Amino acid sequence: MVTQFLKPDEQGLALAAELLKGGSVVGFPTETVYGLGANALDGEAVKRIYEAKGRPGDNPLIVHISDLSELRPLISVEPDEKALRMMKAFWPGPLTMIFPKSDLIPNEVSAGLDTVGIRFPSHPVAQEMIRRAGVPIAAPSANRSGRPSPTTARHVLEDMDGRVPLILDGGACAVGVESTVVDMTGETPRVLRPGGVTAEQIAAVAGSSLVDDAVLRPLGEGEQPRSPGMKYKHYAPTGELTIVTGDPEQVGKYIANCYDEAVSAGRKPLILALDGNAAIYGDRNVRLLGKDAAEMAHSLFALLRDADTLGADVLFSEAVEATGVGLAVMNRLGRAAAFRIVEV
Ligand code: AMP
Ligand code: MG
Repeated sequence: MVTQFLKPDEQGLALAAELLKGGSVVGFPTETVYGLGANALDGEAVKRIYEAKGRPGDNPLIVHISDLSELRPLISVEPDEKALRMMKAFWPGPLTMIFPKSDLIPNEVSAGLDTVGIRFPSHPVAQEMIRRAGVPIAAPSANRSGRPSPTTARHVLEDMDGRVPLILDGGACAVGVESTVVDMTGETPRVLRPGGVTAEQIAAVAGSSLVDDAVLRPLGEGEQPRSPGMKYKHYAPTGELTIVTGDPEQVGKYIANCYDEAVSAGRKPLILALDGNAAIYGDRNVRLLGKDAAEMAHSLFALLRDADTLGADVLFSEAVEATGVGLAVMNRLGRAAAFRIVEV
């Protein structure tokens, strides 16, 4: 298959809509990360997403809409007051809400669950593409399964060249980590995957929120997570990544020391550091994460991909506090490191 790589202009959007209507898969930008979309009402089309990604069949997809009016037919309950307030506050935007699904949602989307995650993205290209396709669009992140999510169209091409007919290049994604996934089927909204909309913001709108405790730790043996995606290896660079937390000066000393030992052992280390701490590392090989959690969210996946391109075989990363957007960052970084975390 030849993969076309187009700007989301009239020609690009028209081709995307035509392909989606015909049951094909299209790579497209959203404000979180790039998605791999197909007609959410067509199980055969959705199967092609799993094939292109190599995604395990028991990991459900999020359904994307371009107008609030598209929600109700996809779910089997009336959204309650809390859900309506959250839609008003956070949609369009990086929030996915899980509801009991209606019969319109094929099993290929829900991976056999009786619920479905719905998101109304704010990216104008995503909205226009969904509108033109005329159907809700099921879309996971556009990476090969296990790889860091793509935050530029080039990343999508790296993973999907020859596997999908079209990638729309809408530039770099603003948020940089995937949407916040919130289970709305219980009394209190429960964050299953942290993202750009924070648990604190949800609590302010809904009165309260819970964060699933599995977001900052590895799953126990045989443990069944509330969100199937939690059980898979994710985001990991090829090199072994360790996160170091604690007093910044101590962290700097510890990482510099590990780096030097790795060099002596003939390895190729790489340091991921916050802007403010970079000077500590002198001329060692450092990539900058940004100045805070929001900038780190924006840059993290690209840096993990870079680490592979550079051939780094051992990585050390600084950390941020796991609150606000920092929770999303530490969830992704933690999983990329298989939760190898050193406290100094
Ligand atoms: P991705 O689209 O690649 O960002 O992955 C979507 C994430 O949302 C995965 O971790 C899924 O397991 C999770 N997810 C999607 N739908 C549901 C659902 N109905 N219940 C629980 N988790 C879900
Ligand atoms: Mg993904």
